[in-house]
Amino acid sequence: NADMAMYEAKRKGKNTYQFFGHKLNERIYRRFEIEKSLRRALEYEEFKLLFQPQIDTITHAITGAEALIRWEHPTLGLVSPGEFINVAEDSGLIVPIGKWVIREVCAHIKDWIVARIPLVRVSLNVSPRQFQDENFVDYFTQVLSETGVSGKWIGVEITECGIIQDVQYAQKTITELRKMGIAIDIDDFGTGYSSFSYLMDFPVDKIKIDQTFVKDLHLEKAAAIVKSVISLARNLNILSIAEGVETEEQSKLLTSFGCDEQQGYFFHGPVDKGALIDLLTDEL
Ligand code: C2E
Ligand code: MG
Ligand code: MG
Ligand code: MG
Repeated sequence: NADMAMYEAKRKGKNTYQFFGHKLNERIYRRFEIEKSLRRALEYEEFKLLFQPQIDTITHAITGAEALIRWEHPTLGLVSPGEFINVAEDSGLIVPIGKWVIREVCAHIKDWIVARIPLVRVSLNVSPRQFQDENFVDYFTQVLSETGVSGKWIGVEITECGIIQDVQYAQKTITELRKMGIAIDIDDFGTGYSSFSYLMDFPVDKIKIDQTFVKDLHLEKAAAIVKSVISLARNLNILSIAEGVETEEQSKLLTSFGCDEQQGYFFHGPVDKGALIDLLTDEL
């Protein structure tokens, strides 16, 4: 796209080239601004969580929700995690941000218990560096005991590259999390190195089929891969969930393949906690 813009600009002459330069500056400025203000974002309470429901393929009941972080930047507006999680990983800020996510999810669940909202499991994303942090499990233990929330209401989503870096450490960490009742979901399954061997080494609860496969589900090859992943999961006694389900056609295909759960705009986008509570109580 940048190449196209450059080509167009050159074709149109000098003035447009300057315009393109201006846009490039804007992008660099934005990145600079993100790096600079990320450090203060926690302190200024600029993060919030949205929740995207996950539904049972057969009953269409909500079985869980994924917590997705949002950054409301005072001048840049809403910054998506795609723009700042990498920056946070590089600078190490992902560790305190990840701790905030853990605290926030547990605080919400505690509120829902008090308000007698019918609970579902809330899954949170853990990036590789956060997973590698030596205090990760201890911090989780501490927050669960402080809030009195049981680990059975929590899931963690980790990517394959997050676990294959240090298999022994991952095995120990995952075993400790599962002892606390926390579910382990493999995020973006099929896009990483996908050495299946870790599936023998770790107890995994759910495989999340990446949205790139779901997007191409109308193509024979993508459909074959998705079918195979679903049967792989079933044979290993692991649940399967497809993410990024946007159309009825995709949903029907996934249902016919025997996918256990689905998540995507076709059912619900990410919603704020009030809307999630409405959805959970409406189901009664
Ligand atoms: P992910 O965990 O794979 O999350 C799925 C992404 O797909 C989310 O983007 C979600 O809003 C989006 N999505 C959901 N349904 C659909 C759909 O039907 N179609 C399409 N095209 N997209 C859909 P989001 O919220 O922008 O998050 C992007 C990524 O940022 C996440 O990918 C996750 O890797 C990361 N992330 C989000 N929240 C956190 C967090 O609290 N901590 C960490 N470490 N990473 C996070
Ligand atoms: Mg995820
Ligand atoms: Mg994912
Ligand atoms: Mg993804």
